[in-house]
Amino acid sequence: MKAIVVEEIGSFSIREMDIPVPGEAEVLIRVSVTGLCRTDLKIIRAGHRDLVLPRVPGEEVVGVITKAGPGVKRFQEGQRVYVYPGTSCGTCEQCVSGAENLCDKMKIMGFHRDGGFAEYVLAPEASVIPVPENITDEEAVFSEPLSCCLNALELAMLKPGESIGIWGAGTAGTLLSRAAADISAIPYSIEPDQRRRSLIGGVVSPPVKGFDAVVVAVGSRDAYLQAIRHLRPRGRLVVFSGLSRDSALLPVDFNRLHYYEQTIVGAYGCSFRHGEQALKMLSEGSITVRDMISHRMSLWDLDKALGLVEERAGMKILLYP
Ligand SMILES: [Zn+2]
Repeated sequence: MKAIVVEEIGSFSIREMDIPVPGEAEVLIRVSVTGLCRTDLKIIRAGHRDLVLPRVPGEEVVGVITKAGPGVKRFQEGQRVYVYPGTSCGTCEQCVSGAENLCDKMKIMGFHRDGGFAEYVLAPEASVIPVPENITDEEAVFSEPLSCCLNALELAMLKPGESIGIWGAGTAGTLLSRAAADISAIPYSIEPDQRRRSLIGGVVSPPVKGFDAVVVAVGSRDAYLQAIRHLRPRGRLVVFSGLSRDSALLPVDFNRLHYYEQTIVGAYGCSFRHGEQALKMLSEGSITVRDMISHRMSLWDLDKALGLVEERAGMKILLYP
């Protein structure tokens, strides 16, 4: 099979590899479509805390099971599935509490084990979720970024009727905005780029009045500094986007947090249940995503696709092996 392989940070190659053989409780999936996101750009060009090399990247995968290991019980060949990218121990405190994304033994597809930038990918049976019949592969592949947004909104403790300021209107920002509206909260998108704002409305700079919650979905230090100034009393800031190592230390007025009882909370990745929830929302039509697809490209044109991500030239880019 053909695959994208990252051997050292900064470059990748297109390689011919053996089709992997599923272990006891694993399935082999022929990749139908894989989503490209800023994290892939970061992984390939700058590296990532969780990346172990050499690696086939790709953490947003929908495909068809072509082979099931002897111990696989719930799935058969020919089934259309979405892959929750993580595998965790299942027994530690984090796993039991439903935050397996924080498990010490967490292994992420595309980071610790090979991902979907290939013709085939292996996944443990426990990580696989069937795709509902009424949605396309292209819609289903949004489950991964949507799951991360659902985790962020959960940590924001967002309630119906509350306002939420979302910095950045890329794929994640747009999904955050739509998911917030779905629970009857009032999203405001803050995005200087008019083209990016076009799908969800939004404003260039935040209104004077603050928000009950703010989420920063753009890796910008200035966005964080602006967002934290727009928190209402008891407001929650969700740290959704990572910052480059040299810009991650921010001056925060702790007295303000103290007097206004404000909270800062991190959000990283998602849990399996968010994947199930995302697919359900897509299937029920409570979130629509089709208008967010800006490019459909061959996976083997990855270099060009990464350029588009870097220039913020598109919205969601889908890749086909
Ligand atoms: Zn665990």
